[in-house]
Amino acid sequence: MHLSVLEKLPATPMWTQYSAIKRDALDALLFYRMGDFYELFLDDAVEASAILGITLTARHKGEDNPVPMCGVPFHSATNYINRLLQAGKRVAICEQTEEAGATKGIVKREIVRVVSPGMAYDSDALDAGLNNYLVVLKPGEIPGQGAYCVADVSTGSLEFSVYVSPEQLRDDLSLIQAREIAVPSSVVDTTSWNELVKTVGPEFFSCVTPSPDFYFAPKQGFQDLCRHFDVLNLEGFGLSEGDPALPAVSATYRIIRETQKQGDLRHLIPPSPRPREGFLQLDESTIEHLDLFPKPGQNPAESVFHHLNRTRTAMGARKLRELLSRPLSMAAPILARQKAILEMKANPSLLRGVGEGLSGIRDLERLVAKVGLRSAGPRDLQALQEVFARLPSLKTLLGNESSAPLLRKLESSIESFSELHAYLSQRLREELPANTREGNVFRGGWNKELDELIALTEDGRAVLEKMEERERASTGINSLKIKYNRVFGYYIEITNSNLANVPTHYVRKQTTANSERFLTDELKKFEEKILSAQDKRVALEEALFQEALLRVGQESQHILRTARELALLDALFSFATAAVDHGYEAPEIVADNALEILDGRHPALEKLVGRDKFIANSSHFTAKERAFLITGPNMAGKSTYMRQVALIALLAHTGSLVPARSARIGLVDRIATRVGASDRIGRGQSTFMVEMNEIARILRQSTSRSLLVIDEIGRGTSTFDGLALAWAILEDIVERLGCRALFATHYHELTVLEQKYSSVRNLSVVVEERNGQVVFLHEVRRGKAPGSYGIEVAKLAGLPPPVIERAKGVLEIMEKNSSKLQKAQKEALHKDSQLTFFGAAPAVAKTPEHLIKLEEALRAIDVEHCSPFDALMTLKDWKETLPSTKSLC
Ligand code: ADP
Ligand code: MG
Repeated sequence: MHLSVLEKLPATPMWTQYSAIKRDALDALLFYRMGDFYELFLDDAVEASAILGITLTARHKGEDNPVPMCGVPFHSATNYINRLLQAGKRVAICEQTEEAGATKGIVKREIVRVVSPGMAYDSDALDAGLNNYLVVLKPGEIPGQGAYCVADVSTGSLEFSVYVSPEQLRDDLSLIQAREIAVPSSVVDTTSWNELVKTVGPEFFSCVTPSPDFYFAPKQGFQDLCRHFDVLNLEGFGLSEGDPALPAVSATYRIIRETQKQGDLRHLIPPSPRPREGFLQLDESTIEHLDLFPKPGQNPAESVFHHLNRTRTAMGARKLRELLSRPLSMAAPILARQKAILEMKANPSLLRGVGEGLSGIRDLERLVAKVGLRSAGPRDLQALQEVFARLPSLKTLLGNESSAPLLRKLESSIESFSELHAYLSQRLREELPANTREGNVFRGGWNKELDELIALTEDGRAVLEKMEERERASTGINSLKIKYNRVFGYYIEITNSNLANVPTHYVRKQTTANSERFLTDELKKFEEKILSAQDKRVALEEALFQEALLRVGQESQHILRTARELALLDALFSFATAAVDHGYEAPEIVADNALEILDGRHPALEKLVGRDKFIANSSHFTAKERAFLITGPNMAGKSTYMRQVALIALLAHTGSLVPARSARIGLVDRIATRVGASDRIGRGQSTFMVEMNEIARILRQSTSRSLLVIDEIGRGTSTFDGLALAWAILEDIVERLGCRALFATHYHELTVLEQKYSSVRNLSVVVEERNGQVVFLHEVRRGKAPGSYGIEVAKLAGLPPPVIERAKGVLEIMEKNSSKLQKAQKEALHKDSQLTFFGAAPAVAKTPEHLIKLEEALRAIDVEHCSPFDALMTLKDWKETLPSTKSLC
């Protein structure tokens, strides 16, 4: 909203206050609390009412300057706020910070929280299996370099990193999948920023928040961070005073503090460097192409995650996702995980016990974060208490039954929080309300004042009965009654016949026909107490609740550490369970460039087509044979085979067992895949350019330890361009990179490369022809495919017989004339100059003269003004002048 809009508001106290507050939240939708509603005004109202589909009205309706307005009830605001966040909006929540009527004039109001897509507002509304990341980016002096900090406020994580090239930043961002990126406001819209966004990829910058430059000041940040984490310097977190990442970390902390004003943020985990070394690099398109995770609008069972996810907790699901998108690149940690998984797989009682121990464990990370953000309710504390109750037996089980070092380490670092558990279970009731508004959170028996208030509010009647009994005994009047009415409150009623026995300290209040009504000091006190007890009880419970939050907050860091260990345990449990369910085996991890898979399967497809129908295939990469060129008709199974090899390699690097009879996997530093344009029409991009862009990136970033999967590239351009490019790209991979590569192609011409390079081998996916029909065997064998069977596949697809017949005729003619292409192929094979091939191509592509004439004639026809007779005559002419088919081409 623009400042000038505010200046036009009426000069009343309310609008003056509104303007002052709104000035600090120009980039957010301001939720201005008025009684039971949050009201939005001006442009905020117009925008929010459109997104939320609520009525837009106006304040000062019918006057000269009506102010657009819409509102949402405060008790259902969460839902509306979540929807605005989903639409990528920021929301500033402004509360009344004093009781209405406490002072003269207008009630004080303040922004208590600013929420944005990258900030947790209501972590219950977040996808439990996904992190909600905010990235705070600080570009450096040198273009393309800088630092960032990635935070998930809903779990407290805080990691920083530098990047030395846009590619590196792109790799990182594609793994992080941030909901929001904050940058210094002076940077936004500068040429270098626009350049960075363009090179990294605009898709990563859909929600950019400009933040004040001074948030990034490292000196101030250093002091803030030292104070918050109570340390003298940040060396312990891997952050020196001059660290290039310090501005980004400082700004992250500042942004969280400025937006989450109510929280004490004790749940923030001290910042740590986001390690880049030690991980196998994957980029976004590879993750997508390998179908690692479910995609919107797609059957989740098509994703690998779906079949591996046997986690029992939300933390575990997030962890599993992380392990899959960040596989390891070093043998030792991979083997440590593998050992743990193997041990659980081999020991059914351990596996079952861990599963049972984890079931029902709620999302500790988000629970603790809610405590730190002061958005936790009574049921959140109860959930913590329930988690703590489960930990001791899980620890005992691991202690007794595991020997794998990683499991033993988990066992010792999972704490059981018995004191905190006792604290909570002593205090909390069993049935809890969602909030503290009406009390009923705490049980009796541990706090005297509370006991009294509980007794008064719940056992008021019993207290009265006791008092009545006591009074009867002391006065000797058996008909004495304590009664209550709305006008007089509580009183003691004594019938006229007993008046003589009334003690002197009874104060007469009222006389009726048959009786008199009295008060005592005790009864008066009781009345005061009981009437205000409810209020007092609610206030006391609120205070005790805040105390409990503080108590839990003190343990935040310990709880979060345990949460991380539980998450890892759950992810390992999931791998082990999946391995049992699907019959996976442990791969051998080796240091050389091997990739030998015996009877490998595709982890998702084998489930979709059925294990008995899925054909297992092997692969044999060795030091000598590193690049495989796969030919075979469409639908034969080329893409499936390549993905399966890449997935088995990837899974092996996560520590998981793999869908194969056995596997020997040499460590890989990057898996990169590229799918030809036609296979990815779904993305709707200008495909050829994107395809070449990605190939360029892959060629630049890969090393001899990388694994490349290249599926039908070159389709987005003319046949000869495509073939030439595919040829040159494959040569570059083989000659310069020398890495492991799988290359599926429909250019059969490429198969001759096997003769040129000893490291290149042809593979084909076998089909059989039975009675003129192709049958897909999905079996990968050595050697090139005998033909492409394109026409047979088209026939299977139901193309009309005349079209099929004609296609066969044309094919025959073309094949007879292919000798020139074969010659060109030979030349390209033996000459190293890249351009030879282009030079040879036009000779074949030249269009015969009569076709040129035909085209000219066709273009000359004005179809709209051409009679049927003229058309027929033209056809006849053409037919007569056409050379015989045999001489075509
Ligand atoms: P291509 O890339 O050669 O066109 P795909 O790999 O896309 O072929 O496979 C096409 C279809 O064939 C798959 O969707 C699957 O249904 C089936 N298929 C592929 N490989 C196998 C296999 N090994 N076992 C059983 N069915 C397979
Ligand atoms: Mg394919």
